[in-house]
Amino acid sequence: MSDFFQQFSRRKFLLTAGLSATAALLKGCLGNPPEPGNSQTQSTVRSVANTNPEQAPETTKVKLGYIPIVEAAPLIIAKEKGFFAKYGMTDVELSKQASWGSARDNVEIGSAGGGIDGGQWQMPIPHLITEGLITKGNQKIPMYVLCQLITHGNGIAIANKHQGKGISLRLAAAKSLFTQLKSTTPFTAAFTFPHVNQDLWIRYWLAAGGIDPDKDVKLLTVPSAQTVANMKTGTMDAFSTGDPWPYRIVKDKIGFMAALTAEIWKNHPEEYFAMRADWVDKHPKATKALLKGIMEAQQWLDNFDNRKQAAEILGARNYFNLPAQILAEPYQGKYDMGDGRTIDDKSMAAYYWKDEKGSVSYPYKSHDLWFIVENVRWGFLPQDYIANNAAKAKELINKVNREDLWREAAKEAGIATADIPTSTSRGIEEFFDGTKFNPEKPEEYLRSLKIKRVSL
Ligand code: CA
Repeated sequence: MSDFFQQFSRRKFLLTAGLSATAALLKGCLGNPPEPGNSQTQSTVRSVANTNPEQAPETTKVKLGYIPIVEAAPLIIAKEKGFFAKYGMTDVELSKQASWGSARDNVEIGSAGGGIDGGQWQMPIPHLITEGLITKGNQKIPMYVLCQLITHGNGIAIANKHQGKGISLRLAAAKSLFTQLKSTTPFTAAFTFPHVNQDLWIRYWLAAGGIDPDKDVKLLTVPSAQTVANMKTGTMDAFSTGDPWPYRIVKDKIGFMAALTAEIWKNHPEEYFAMRADWVDKHPKATKALLKGIMEAQQWLDNFDNRKQAAEILGARNYFNLPAQILAEPYQGKYDMGDGRTIDDKSMAAYYWKDEKGSVSYPYKSHDLWFIVENVRWGFLPQDYIANNAAKAKELINKVNREDLWREAAKEAGIATADIPTSTSRGIEEFFDGTKFNPEKPEEYLRSLKIKRVSL
């Protein structure tokens, strides 16, 4: 194994003055009760019982952004079930973001300027912001990836007019349809932000089926809600996004689902919790308190007995504003794909804490690397990121990925040793088409792919 994956970050963060930590603890104890109806006394007792004075957060306040899809659940549950408050973070504001572009704009300005300190992200947005590649004036704003929020829970929806034309997980039977459309009105597919998860899933799926996403179809960025409207009016053929949107398409009889991301890459990395590095550097204990709250929410969410309640909390008007039933079925691994196919398999459901391959919450550096390599594949990032066994990509990942903070938070929260990965790499990954990604040999992976925008 390379140094990159063996190396655990040894960075030490600044210790804050004992005085301010004590003040923060007192403030935390006197803050809002974790759950409605709790008396001040109960709240105080709970906070003290669960907060080691040495771990008391430097602040109780933070503003986190989220997009109303199942990926946001650990943040919402941590707030609603009192898990943030339990670790002293009594004043967490969750701010619904209109789009990924607004989330990016808001983290650029930070909470002091009316924006956000961090929150939910597609990958590799934190790395692209750190590099100043998607910010105003290419300003470099260092960010830290702190944990993964979820695996699965995403899919590729297709407009009903394409029913019965062979568009499914495997596209061999639909190739002639794409060719035919190319000369008239090209097949149009949307994602919610360029160069990240949704764009990458749709590209991977098309390319695996021999369809060139840059030459054979038209791909564009559209916010999820608008995509549904466009699909209704017939101007959109496909889109890729998180639950509940693909499922709504089926229930509203607008379209069907060609594939779940769980089918494309079982137990794949999906969205992450990341924050501005300056906030984390200033508030290392508060960061770990947030992480502990999220970890507890993730464990709570993975208890399937809690999922009905989870769907009700998320569906509420102030969060997703939709009937809980739309979330409840996919949450049990039940998908009506809308083309006669049904999936009833718990292993295909969204997972937050642990899946068949181990930890979901832990941010594997090998997964950051896949997202960067895939950006190189499509020409979004220059090839020098993967030269010399991806030295530049690894340098960036070592700067952005703070798996060391995840480990510290997990230990402080008393997480079982068995649930704490021993390596920063999850090892070799396999996709539905048989392609393998060996994080030790990213160039080999790129070489094995037929459709790509780089030559090796
Ligand atoms: Ca997603």
